[in-house]
Amino acid sequence: MAMAKAKTKPNPYQAQEDALRAKQRELLDSFERDKAAGNHQNDDGIQDLADKAASAYSKELNFSLSDTERNLLMQIEEAFVRIKNDAYAICTNCGAVIGEKRLHAVPWTPFCIDCQELQEKGLL
Ligand SMILES: [Zn+2]
Repeated sequence: MAMAKAKTKPNPYQAQEDALRAKQRELLDSFERDKAAGNHQNDDGIQDLADKAASAYSKELNFSLSDTERNLLMQIEEAFVRIKNDAYAICTNCGAVIGEKRLHAVPWTPFCIDCQELQEKGLL
């Protein structure tokens, strides 16, 4: 990843971080569109919202996003925190390393594939 060299220390998960940001933006954009449809337009809304999104717990977001979208935003946010804390790519449940393929497909996942299955079965 040649792009991000200048400012920050090398990030081994730059690709995932980019993917996370893109996904976050996508979710927030659709939220913003819904909001714009019902409200007046607000140019600085998106940036402002990205900060807020920051906390996907904001009331407004909670109100407008579906559960799935909201969960996803929270998972994305938590993934950013894990990247920052050098805890990314480590299953938050069992501590196993999450495979690169899986991170590529689901960059916000907090679980390894085994724990994900447990969680889907409601066993976690
Ligand atoms: Zn696990």
